[in-house]
Order: sequence, then C-alpha cells, then structure tokens
Amino acid sequence: MRIGLLGGGQLGRMLALAGYPLGHEFTFLDPSSDAPMSPLAAGIISLFTDHAALDRLARDSDVVTFEFENVGREAAERIAARVPMFPPPAALEIKVDRLLEKRFFDQLNIPTAPYGDASTENELLKQINALGAPVVVKTRKFGYDGKGQAVARSAEDAASIWRALGGAPVIVEKFIQFEREVSIIAVRGRDGMIQFYPVGENVHRGGILRFTRAPAKLFNKSIVDQAQNHARAVLEKLHYVGVLAIEFFEVNGRLLANEMAPRVHNSGHWTIDGAATSQFENHIRAVTNAPLGSTELRRETAMINIIGDVPPVDRILQIPGAHLHLYGKEPRAGRKLGHINLCADAAPADFEKNFKILLKMTGNGDC
Ligand code: AMP
Repeated sequence: MRIGLLGGGQLGRMLALAGYPLGHEFTFLDPSSDAPMSPLAAGIISLFTDHAALDRLARDSDVVTFEFENVGREAAERIAARVPMFPPPAALEIKVDRLLEKRFFDQLNIPTAPYGDASTENELLKQINALGAPVVVKTRKFGYDGKGQAVARSAEDAASIWRALGGAPVIVEKFIQFEREVSIIAVRGRDGMIQFYPVGENVHRGGILRFTRAPAKLFNKSIVDQAQNHARAVLEKLHYVGVLAIEFFEVNGRLLANEMAPRVHNSGHWTIDGAATSQFENHIRAVTNAPLGSTELRRETAMINIIGDVPPVDRILQIPGAHLHLYGKEPRAGRKLGHINLCADAAPADFEKNFKILLKMTGNGDC
C-alpha cells in the first residue's frame, strides 16, 4: 500500500524502516527539508496548514497515519475526509490539549494526579493554593520533552511561572511522589483485535525520557492488569486503530495516568530488538488492515536514549547485545538523536555492567 505520514521525524523514519519489508511505500509531509524521513521516502515539504499539500498527500496515499500530534485538527480532518486515516482524528484532538486529555481520562475512570486548570495568573495562584504545593504547571498545548512546564514549590512561584510559560492557558497538577514511571504500548487492529506489549519501566530527567527497561519488574501483579484495562478503555472508546502509548506514575501499587500518545512512542523503541514484532511494524500492520504480529517479549531489553550528541559509534557497537539506531539528525542540546537497545541475552552476566557503561557514555550516568 501507499502509506502517507503526517510528520517526517524519527518515528516516521522507523515506521518506514518497518514498513518497506512488508512491501509498502511511503510519502511524508513535514515542514522541514531535512526531516529524518527524507533519505527514505518522498517528501512533501510544507506546513500542515497548506491545503494543497494535504490534498496531495491524500491523493498519493491509500492510507494516512501520523507520527506527530500537533498537526492540528483541521489538517487531520481534511485528510480523513479524503482517504482512510488511522488513528482517528478524535485521538489527536484529545491529545493536543492536556486539559481535554485529563477530562477524557476522568470520563473513562482512569485515575490521574489531582489537577485543575488556569487561564489567568490569578487562577493559577488559586489552583496552587487549592491543590497544595508542590505542583507541576504545564501549558495545555504544545508541550513536549519537559518543555512548557515548571514546578511551583510555593504559591509565590505563580507570577514567575505564569511569565515563563508565556501566559498561556495551563493545567496545574499535584506533584506526585511516584515510586516509578511505567508505560504500556498497545495496538488495535482495524478488526478491533487488541494486543499489549509487556509493561516497560521509564526514567526521565529534565522531563525527557532517558531510558526504558522492559519488562518492568513486577512489585505488584495487578500493575499489568491496570495498565491493560486503562489502555483497552481508551482504545475502545476511540474505536482506535494503530499503536497507542499511555504513561503512568506508580504510587502504592496504583497507576495514575500521566499522558497518552496516539502513536508509536519512545518508551516502545525497545520492541525493535526485544519483542517478536516491533511497535513500528505492528502500527503499519494495524493501519493497513493486516493481521497483527506477536507482541511477546523475545529478550529482556534496556533502551537508552542518545540526547544532544552521539558517542563514538564503535564504542557502542563493541558492547555485546547493543543495537544502535540513529535518526540522522544534527546534534543539538536536548535533542533526541538516536537510541541504543541493549539486549540481555547476548551477555547475561554483564548486562547490568554494560547498561551502566552505556548510560555513562550517553551522558545519562547520573540517572
Ligand atoms: P510530561 O510532559 O507530562 O510527560 O512530563 C514529563 C515528566 O515530568 C514525567 O515523565 C515525569 O517524570 C515528570 N512529571 C510530570 N508531571 C508530574 C507530576 N504531576 N508529578 C511528578 N512528576 C511529574
């Protein structure tokens, strides 16, 4: 099939890498002329607001999907009116506004951190007082990788945070003292069939994912059931097709949903080398109406993000079981440039040691 992608970043690149062996072709639409997908597919270089470009993508595709959620509702609906598009635009609409996302979780009885919203500095102050500091203040729109958010340690921080976040409407969340963060990657086919990957354990620093270990150690058996039930509720409510990720805080054996991503997700990159079928291949299978592949764990895997600059490649490849995935992006502070999947079966006795070496090499040593 001819698959169109809204967005041409690393997620699109890995979708294409998974989709070509299945016989598919790819076109992407992205504002950047050097998007990570450029070496792999035909690109329409344009803003997501350009109707002619959107229509061309629809015309050149049998099915359209996205790897970037801030494409805007109008773009998504324009495409969906012309060609099958998965996941459904409704998922995008919820995702692009943190307040709608939280309300959607409420509607499905999925627990979250206590929260409120604020559209003025005075409302922000009131919310901080109502929830009790510390709280995390996040812009409702356009936040990612820790951008557009700040922690208020007391009500006195309200004014500086309001200014720092540009006076944009925000949500205010109670700061959660979680035991750890976990996420679930799920996939739903066009026939409604759902599969789940093993739950992974995530470590963030500065709001950016540093590493994921899969499978997560189970301190509480019901964690997997909770994660699967919450993901199933979202998938079914939205008549979703494709891969969905939900990130959670684990607190006293209970999961609180932090956010969802209606797409393949960084905390699922381990599946390329650690699962029977990667999240990328399964997303492609789902949107093209093919049978889903097994989501079973093949081997314990640690995924380590390469952020800011790339360590010497030979040093990474020397480590048994280390698989390197670079995205072809120019180095820049805070930018995700690639990841390493370290698989345990290659050198089981040295796995933890090698994991620490890779954390250090990638500048994540203090995590
Ligand atoms: P987000 O952009 O919402 O995914 O937040 C990025 C990271 O910031 C999360 O993965 C957490 O590590 C941290 N964080 C976000 N919200 C909270 C919260 N309410 N309490 C504690 N930590 C948070």
